[in-house]
Amino acid sequence: MAVSMYRCQSCQQSVGPSIPSHLVTVATRWVEFPSRPQVHFVAHAAREKWRDDPGGEGAQVVRQQRMCPTCAKRAPPATRVRRSR
Ligand SMILES: [Zn+2]
Repeated sequence: MAVSMYRCQSCQQSVGPSIPSHLVTVATRWVEFPSRPQVHFVAHAAREKWRDDPGGEGAQVVRQQRMCPTCAKRAPPATRVRRSR
């Protein structure tokens, strides 16, 4: 197994191999997907083989940082960024 040291992306300290790292989400964006009719193929359906995708919305990860346990514990909640398109 590889010895996995890492540098904390928050405090920039080099962290030893026995200390766990935490992948912390620091930025998210809110994404909406429109419904898409007739896109899911249902192989064994007698009729209505093509079904709708209902669409939906949710938070999408924009940026994550590898952090040491100390920084991960005091990391602020992820900021919500505006959609760029
Ligand atoms: Zn740190």
